[in-house]
Amino acid sequence: MIYPQQVDHSRRIGLLRRRLTKAGLHGLLVTYLPDLRYLSGFTGSSAALAVTRRSARLFTDGRYKTQAAEEVTVAQIEIVASSPAVAAAQWLAAQPGVEFAGFDPAQTTVANLDRYRAALPARLRRSFLSALAAPLVEPLRQVKDEDELALMSEAALAGCNLFEHILGFIRPGLKEFEVAAELEHQARLLGAEGMSFETIVAAGARSALPHGHATAARLPRNGFVTLDFGVILNGYCSDMTRTVHLGRPKANERRAYEAVLEAQEAGVAAVMPGVSCAEVDEAARGVLRRAGLAEAFSHSTGHGLGLEIHEPPRIGAGQKTRLLPGMVITIEPGVYLAGQFGIRIEDMVAVTRSGGQVLTPAPKALIEL
Ligand code: ZN
Ligand code: ZN
Repeated sequence: MIYPQQVDHSRRIGLLRRRLTKAGLHGLLVTYLPDLRYLSGFTGSSAALAVTRRSARLFTDGRYKTQAAEEVTVAQIEIVASSPAVAAAQWLAAQPGVEFAGFDPAQTTVANLDRYRAALPARLRRSFLSALAAPLVEPLRQVKDEDELALMSEAALAGCNLFEHILGFIRPGLKEFEVAAELEHQARLLGAEGMSFETIVAAGARSALPHGHATAARLPRNGFVTLDFGVILNGYCSDMTRTVHLGRPKANERRAYEAVLEAQEAGVAAVMPGVSCAEVDEAARGVLRRAGLAEAFSHSTGHGLGLEIHEPPRIGAGQKTRLLPGMVITIEPGVYLAGQFGIRIEDMVAVTRSGGQVLTPAPKALIEL
């Protein structure tokens, strides 16, 4: 078990500095909390991080004084009474040799940018803060380091344990709510900080809704139940889907299940460093197309995940990003036949030097309950 305190944040800041220099910037204002956590280890809900080529300083408010001191070793800590982001922008502007600092336009509102600029000395208001042409932290976060891979594998295994538990709980007549509640209750008992997204339990014809959140609908005597869920453990998200069948499946249901399973396994087998995300998508999609189910597969094949449940890269048609060792993605093809049934199977897969390693080893052969 690796504890977050042992994570090498100085390595991450070092990699960020290299990118800063390449981008011709003297400093970076980090306000997006998942990026800030990744770089510094700080898990509070109000902070900003200023990074220059030489130093780093984390700004937060009085509520987090003790927590910041415990969690953050890679930056100096300053407790402020007003906006941490405004204080961070002002600090950056006051550093000798820092003439330009970047901010992430994807994570900064127009109103906030106005506030940061208004707080700067008049001569710096127009030119000091510039929008990053390309994200700087995101590419670092896409490639997980050893610490992260260990934590993600642990989160994924916790998900598999939950699946095994819920198999013994599911029976016809239960409400989808009750299944979700049991899953979530067990997740907390296993030590999860929370669920990584709203648990999906979709039974019978509702399984044809790709994002069927649990409702008061009851599990049928005969039909599919799709369970898509994940836990947050040590800050990292897990994500897995299994579709089980209550009673005996009909021949067409079994055929559709086998096609999804074959597509899912083809997607996993296609995971390889250097392969594009579009090629992985096509490996899974092609199987369903040949089974006459192309129309029924209405979403992309997968997504990256880590500190957040959805991170780049996206595993979909037209996605040119090439897989790199250390990326963690999901492979989750599905078929959805409105009014009838739906099936999805999802694993987390870590890209290794020679292929893909499935982090969610729960059984995938059709389970009849
Ligand atoms: Zn999922
Ligand atoms: Zn997913």
